[in-house]
Amino acid sequence: MTCDLIVIGAGPGGYDAAVLAAKRGWSVVLIEAEKIGGTCLNWGCIPTKSYCKNASLLEELKEAEAYGVKDLSYSFDFNVARERKNQVVGQLTQGMQFFVDKSKSITYVQGTARFEDTHTVAVNGERYTAERIIIATGSVSAMLPIAGTDLPGVVTSKEILDIEAVPERLCVIGAGVIGLEFASVFSRFGAQVTVLEYAKEILPNFDSDLAKRLKQSLVKKGIAITNQAMVQGIAQGESGLTVSYQLKEETLTCEADVVLMAVGRKANVGTLNLAEIGIEFSPRGINTDEVLQTNVPGIYAVGDVNGKCMLAHAASFQATKAVNHMQGVDDSIRLDIIPAAVFISPEAAMVGLTEEQCKEAGIGYKAVKSFFRSNGKAVCMGETDGLCKMIIATDGRILGCHLFGPHAADLIHEISSMMNMDVTLTQFRNFVHAHPTLSEVIQECGKEG
Ligand code: NAD
Repeated sequence: MTCDLIVIGAGPGGYDAAVLAAKRGWSVVLIEAEKIGGTCLNWGCIPTKSYCKNASLLEELKEAEAYGVKDLSYSFDFNVARERKNQVVGQLTQGMQFFVDKSKSITYVQGTARFEDTHTVAVNGERYTAERIIIATGSVSAMLPIAGTDLPGVVTSKEILDIEAVPERLCVIGAGVIGLEFASVFSRFGAQVTVLEYAKEILPNFDSDLAKRLKQSLVKKGIAITNQAMVQGIAQGESGLTVSYQLKEETLTCEADVVLMAVGRKANVGTLNLAEIGIEFSPRGINTDEVLQTNVPGIYAVGDVNGKCMLAHAASFQATKAVNHMQGVDDSIRLDIIPAAVFISPEAAMVGLTEEQCKEAGIGYKAVKSFFRSNGKAVCMGETDGLCKMIIATDGRILGCHLFGPHAADLIHEISSMMNMDVTLTQFRNFVHAHPTLSEVIQECGKEG
């Protein structure tokens, strides 16, 4: 079969590329090896957010007495939470499948794609040909090269979503986004959680000042976090799994019922036959230029598979940019301004440069801060832990923003929008914010500049 565009992978990147190209009149073949929606919908953003709802409800119930709600009696049925999570995922994936199935321009193919040449892809013994191809095959969990990763009870972010009971003791290896999100959720579900992180701070991509304070906040909520821990191996002990790690000169252990491996993800390119057809890639992912085109003209790679930015929304916007490029449509998408959010309690979010990055690049800047503890709405909500830090260039433009606190994941977009429009701090100070709202934390930060 010949079409205008072949898209390999139906996660946020591939799906959005297929839908946009089809909307503009192209015939598209969309190939998916596992489930429509990819990691984000099936084993990532969405199921974890469903668990976040359970976790935040439990957190509120725990504090209910402080708000005058007395003599509450409740228990947590994890099976109900798991079932609800499956329903949420099912509802959203069915919506996508329905849309694709009813589209006259998209042919959905279930199977694993393999390049035969730069214009031909084979799936289930069928051949599909197109002038343009988008690779959007995502990423898979990376595993540490240590003993014991194959033991029962050692899981990745995919399997942990389907465990049947809340473990009494959970050991999380890696304090990146995945590690902390599961640590925060399972801690609120009642597990005793220990996080072991190799680096000096948690969330290595975040501003280190913020990461330090956020760590204190998580520890206060009962999560044990050890930095500079070099994990050496996992063994089956009599009462569960034993994770050994080195901390400075000492070798220590952490006992757990479940061990979550959250030490990063790697590009999913194994089955594509890329080397044979001359597509350049490294362990970080497929090499692409600023419009997401590979070294082979007409073949693009979007999302986690190119290793540029492993976030669902980055994949979607990269997909839009790639389709725009191949269809000759201009856009002003700024792939250097991608907000990121961490769904823990309290939430964390960032966009743009950190102080460390400014220093390294020799960029002149000023850092200004404001705190949730002096925000009226946050005080009313009883959620005063957190701060907002803005990084301002010498010409007044906003270079970055880092915050943690209630609804940080939603608040960050005001800053992203301003960065997209090159708004200066002087201009921002004229923008009226409603009172009392959490967004006043950002307004206050602006006043500090
Ligand atoms: P990550 O790169 O964010 O974090 C991995 C962590 O593991 C790092 O802190 C690293 O220092 C640590 N680590 C590495 N080797 C270690 C070792 N031997 N011992 C202890 N710690 C070790 O990766 P991740 O958390 O697995 O997430 C993968 C990708 O998925 C990221 O790009 C992330 O942004 C993305 N993601 C995003 C969201 C979100 O936007 N909310 C949610 C989940 C995942």
